[in-house]
Amino acid sequence: MLARSDESEGRGRRRLGTNHPLTTQPDPGAARPRTPRVLQHRECVGEWEAHATTGSPPPAPNNGCGGLGPITASELIAASHKAMSESTETPAEFARRPANDYKVQHAWPLDARERADFYHRPRAIPESVREWRDALVRRIADNPSAFPAVPRNSSPDEKRASVDDGLARLREITRIVELLYGTPDLGRKSVSAANAHVGRVLARLGPFNELGVRLDGLDPKQLQAVLPEVVPPPIRHSLHVNLAVHGLEVCKSIAPDCSSCDLRNLCQTYRRAQISTARASKAPRVIDLFCGAGGMSEGFSRAGFQIVAAADMDPIALRTLALNHPSLPPEGVLAGDIRELDHRSLRKLVGRRRLDVLAGAPPCQGFSSAGFRSKSTRTGYRAIGDERNYLFEWLVGMALELEPRLFLMENVPGMKTARRQDVSFLEAAARRLRAGGYITAVWQLNAAAFGVPQERTRCFLVAAAPDIELPGQPPEEYQNTRSAFDVDALPPVTLTEAVFDLPPLEAGTGSAVAGRVSPVSDNDVRLRRYLSKFQVREASKVTYNHYARYQNKQDLELYALLRPGEDSVHAIERYGRADLMRYRRDVFDDKYFRLRGDRPSKTIVSHLAKDGNGYIHPTQTRGITPREAARLQSFRDRYAFCGSPTDQWSQIGNAVPPMMAEKIARSFLAALRRG
Ligand code: SF4
Repeated sequence: MLARSDESEGRGRRRLGTNHPLTTQPDPGAARPRTPRVLQHRECVGEWEAHATTGSPPPAPNNGCGGLGPITASELIAASHKAMSESTETPAEFARRPANDYKVQHAWPLDARERADFYHRPRAIPESVREWRDALVRRIADNPSAFPAVPRNSSPDEKRASVDDGLARLREITRIVELLYGTPDLGRKSVSAANAHVGRVLARLGPFNELGVRLDGLDPKQLQAVLPEVVPPPIRHSLHVNLAVHGLEVCKSIAPDCSSCDLRNLCQTYRRAQISTARASKAPRVIDLFCGAGGMSEGFSRAGFQIVAAADMDPIALRTLALNHPSLPPEGVLAGDIRELDHRSLRKLVGRRRLDVLAGAPPCQGFSSAGFRSKSTRTGYRAIGDERNYLFEWLVGMALELEPRLFLMENVPGMKTARRQDVSFLEAAARRLRAGGYITAVWQLNAAAFGVPQERTRCFLVAAAPDIELPGQPPEEYQNTRSAFDVDALPPVTLTEAVFDLPPLEAGTGSAVAGRVSPVSDNDVRLRRYLSKFQVREASKVTYNHYARYQNKQDLELYALLRPGEDSVHAIERYGRADLMRYRRDVFDDKYFRLRGDRPSKTIVSHLAKDGNGYIHPTQTRGITPREAARLQSFRDRYAFCGSPTDQWSQIGNAVPPMMAEKIARSFLAALRRG
């Protein structure tokens, strides 16, 4: 059976330990009596440490109870503004800044292997955390009722994995607030009342849901007792002071400003609100199978559809989808072998209404022209012998069971040419749908024709139930460089227009989460045609997934020789530098390629997970970053990709560009309204 994703919430009453009373307040985000704006002088920052069973010394030097008087909200806010103002530079200042000089000191320093990870289980556990984690695993075993989300019969390793999932989210929250507020130095002033803010913000964020621990309604004293058990020593101080500022500035007691909150996708209260709004909505409903990181879901959401379920075999890709679609309920996030999915469980998620759209993008590697051709010539690969190439049959079978009004399947054009018994795989799928009463059409679309800064041609099998009119193919507005020249079309969006405002990097620099710095002002006219028009450059104080992979000296030397549009053959012929090629020339003569900035990018592929030599930045001597690739795929900047770098690259390369999916979704919406 398919497992539900790890985003599921704990249920019922939760008790962390006998000393920690529970709350029965249903909604931690609900308005509460206003907290005094002047913080009191009673206890000290870092007091969580005093309660730690395996505590280490407080990390900050300024956490003593010096008794220098109360600190006011304005002082806290001023401290955070100082931190933020350091990341809003003029372009001239920015140009003088060394490429990798926007590092922030994190309370839990990242291991070198983790620099590019996002929302990923820690790979290296510091000694103090290891002791704390072992103690927590023992407590879970001794008192399972206090941790209801951890299965009772789970092994110690499984318990440790649950703790690590919780740690992954808590560590990401800590990283982000450190960037936002810079861990303000509050001096030797006490901030005990900040506990009220910290408690409220943590209760709303619900970072311990992976364990089933909730903090709703705990008073400061109870909170003091609970937090050392669920927050590891290195991040306690940082989390405390930064969340205190967050509570004063954004996550206020009354009317929290969720729309501008950079933690919102990680916040359980925000997610619960989004889910209940979605449940009450009358928006047409979509199920997205083989959803990956959610490009298709994102496009349909932007067009006004409601995603009720998404399934994929890759749990990390699903984590990305779930994180970025807060209105998708945890029970609708289905991880596991998709062929075991039962249509009855999907129907249950749709409710009493008929399903409007079943969409899916089954694996395409077996049909991909590059992989398919090269495999067939060198290894005797046969599409008909590849099990993955029949997953589309399962998808079509599911459509015939669920009987959606409309059906959509995306794949590479190779699905039209790969044949079994003289019938293409795509035609076989269409025939089955027609036999089930559906009307079908095949669209071959290039993403660049819809304003996506990328040449990406894909086939879409579209089917409509007999009572629905077949949707019309979405009109192409931008020049499709793979078809006849259209004088009425807008010029295609170029690679430069998509990435020029991102901070410059050197190979081996950047990180998965960084403070937003940009050499470009928000009024720059170059933003108009793409980044502003399609809200790709979203207002956020954080930049995700912008890091350039390390390259060795030899590769960088070759990169530097190439001009935009040139591949390694040019460099070899022009400069006689065959010595720089690490690959066999007869097979990989175009292995290195510098992208052109004045036209759409070539297709972003999941092979980027292996190396970036074919995607060299047009003006910087490095490969493109995942954020740049995400922009070329038309993902918005708040859409963060989870997992290791390999996970992130595969998710981005395999995704349906959300802008292309949105155009299709709008055409589907029109057909549903007509039908
Ligand atoms: S989204 Fe942000 S502001 Fe809103 S409740 Fe959550 S933490 Fe508070």
